[in-house]
Amino acid sequence: MTNSEQVWPLVEAKKDYFIALSDHVWGTPELLYAEFRSVSEHIAALDHEGFRLTRDVAGLPTAVMGEAGFGGPVVAILGEFDALAGLSQEAGLAERRPIEPGGSGHGCGHNMLGSAALLAATAVKDWLQRSGTPGRVRYYGCPAEEGGSAKTYMVRAGVFDDVDAAVTWHPGGTTRVDTLPYLANSTMDFHFVGRAAHASSSAHLGRSALDAVELMSVGVNYMREHMPSHARIHYAILDGGGPAANVVQARAAVRYVVRGRDNPEVAELSARVRKIAEAAAMMSETEVSWKVISGCSNLLSNEPLQKAMARHYQHLGPVPFDDADRAFAAEMQRTLDPKDIWTDYARVGMKVKPNTPLCDFIVPNEARGEPVMGSTDVGDVSWKVPTVQARVATHAIGTPAHTWQIVAQGKAGAAHKGLVYAAKVMAATAIDVLTDADLRLAAKKDHLASTGGRYDCPIPDDIQPAVKPWPAACSCTAGDRPK
Ligand SMILES: [Zn+2]
Repeated sequence: MTNSEQVWPLVEAKKDYFIALSDHVWGTPELLYAEFRSVSEHIAALDHEGFRLTRDVAGLPTAVMGEAGFGGPVVAILGEFDALAGLSQEAGLAERRPIEPGGSGHGCGHNMLGSAALLAATAVKDWLQRSGTPGRVRYYGCPAEEGGSAKTYMVRAGVFDDVDAAVTWHPGGTTRVDTLPYLANSTMDFHFVGRAAHASSSAHLGRSALDAVELMSVGVNYMREHMPSHARIHYAILDGGGPAANVVQARAAVRYVVRGRDNPEVAELSARVRKIAEAAAMMSETEVSWKVISGCSNLLSNEPLQKAMARHYQHLGPVPFDDADRAFAAEMQRTLDPKDIWTDYARVGMKVKPNTPLCDFIVPNEARGEPVMGSTDVGDVSWKVPTVQARVATHAIGTPAHTWQIVAQGKAGAAHKGLVYAAKVMAATAIDVLTDADLRLAAKKDHLASTGGRYDCPIPDDIQPAVKPWPAACSCTAGDRPK
């Protein structure tokens, strides 16, 4: 019996508990750095399973690490549990109906992400115990993936320094090893200060900070044509100077997100955006200051780990969806634009669209389609240690990320089956890392070839994450803050 054939029944044995954990976290959606109830559920599960706990990992109150096993190599399994604002939605319904208008929802499937990662870590722990194999498995419960770059801070704090390899996954529309590139990014806030004045009787005395924000926007729009076509710049006005149109706005603030192939490219583009901000300030006779808010590195591929993971997909076959799963997915697809569905196929280079609403196939590692233009803070972990990420189908093909449709499918049968499948893929790959010295060596060689042995954190040393203190009266369902 192979190691994977030994560990998969261990996943099956405890799956119900972790499916319930996923559903529970789905029901308590919490935003970045405020995942108090969600992390408390994860801490309770780690405690229950006998992991050695480290709380407040890297000084983040909603991060946790659980370790099991002794000696040997160290494999990290990464989980997340943060939600998104404005996506409250009833489960199992193919129409928009918020549970709480304006409330949050798990629009990126991180309820499943954390739960499956913890299930995988638990199965690896149980396997290590039964087989008497030396080695350690660590579950890293990572908060604030959505806009908070918690893993970047965790990498900066050195919590992955002694890890041999990291394994993670993300829920998706297709089942495949994640071999597609993700972009590096940097988020900066710009604050303009002008001079208030009556907008009519003494307009000539005023200097508008809002004008500066608009001039900056014009400048950046002209820049877009003269940057690499894969790069992206987004912005949001944080403060337009207030609702009074008859006052010259003395203050205004705007947030810019710059995405590029890697950190050096993002740094170069960000410097150009800052130059435009200074020019806008000069034109409007205002003053500007700026601050980096967060950032993350591009995701590095690791071919030896990807090949090892792909073997487990082949062994398992596609996720075992049933007709009820397909019927609900087909219903959900009717709420999408056909282009959404085509985009999922184009992303993995598939020109022929199989007639199935759920991914009843495995996309081969060699498949190359249109690149993912998103970013993930797993990127920073991948610059520190060899990292591999699985994608497993948990929702209808074509469902765009960060939508109510993802929330609606987050507790469905397909989500549960995808979660268990992901845990099996990750557990088997983690055991490969722990037991195969040649694989570890090959993964490290590949990593060194990509990084050249260096990692430059995209967040400056003096920038700290926007963490929130643990609430005094915690409404955590798993009891007060676990000690
Ligand atoms: Zn996500």
